[in-house]
Amino acid sequence: MPTLAELQQFARYHLVRRVYDHPARDPELEVVTLGYDPKAFEAEVRSFEGRFAVREALRGSYRGASWPVLEVESKPSSEARRRRVLVLSGVHGNEQAGILSVVPLLEQLYAERASLANVAVRVLTPVNAVGAAEVSRFNGEGYDINRDFRRFYTAEARLVRDALESFRPDIVLSLHEGPQDASFVFANARCDVEQVKRWLSEIEAKGTTLARKDYFGSMLPSPGLSPSTAASRLVVRLWANTLGMMAANGYCDERGIPELTLESSWKSPDRAARLRAHVDLCMAVVRTLARQ
Ligand SMILES: [Zn+2]
Repeated sequence: MPTLAELQQFARYHLVRRVYDHPARDPELEVVTLGYDPKAFEAEVRSFEGRFAVREALRGSYRGASWPVLEVESKPSSEARRRRVLVLSGVHGNEQAGILSVVPLLEQLYAERASLANVAVRVLTPVNAVGAAEVSRFNGEGYDINRDFRRFYTAEARLVRDALESFRPDIVLSLHEGPQDASFVFANARCDVEQVKRWLSEIEAKGTTLARKDYFGSMLPSPGLSPSTAASRLVVRLWANTLGMMAANGYCDERGIPELTLESSWKSPDRAARLRAHVDLCMAVVRTLARQ
């Protein structure tokens, strides 16, 4: 039986659309932070201008300060037939590996640009710019953006929706962290499960530890993989129809787009391991699409 505290925690993250009226820090989550600094991160991402197209896609403000959501896109190549990958980084602002991994990811994409020329990669980072600056899961108005893909109250969820419309990705990768002790992915119903397993083997071979259990403590059917099931799709539908909440994962499913949500462990003090999972998964996906 779950404890009362666990039930309260579950209710807060799954049953309430607006949890706070401000981007709260939530120390009971026991997130090990990795020293994200909004100004330094913005400067680092902007330093890729020239190698990538970099622009401010949205600006989030809170208490008189504001921070940009940056859109970084690989430069168009002469290839006519291009595949497209959309990377959502920092939808939850306190999950810092999904944000900080963007810098090594861009470096790797640029290093391999010759062999990846027929794949366009667009990164939105950090989708929750206020939450990232405030080390919070929530945005400036206290909403969890990843519960807002039904009603689209938040400018951040609308930005992602617009990117899906305009960029028409072949796959979406959403970079998250969770309280479990290793990494796993939620794969929506549009994903090819056998292909996802190959990507997971690839990142495991490069040093990522794949979780055996998800963050509810349930055994995963295959290491590192939480696939869409009839039961999980029913829960997603009920959640949307009764509470008006939906995650990007479910929204992409409705739109017919494969989506992988990667969850590394926010409890791990091993910064390199946490970042590596994100960089290696994104690169595995992009390299596969480049060969198609
Ligand atoms: Zn998250």
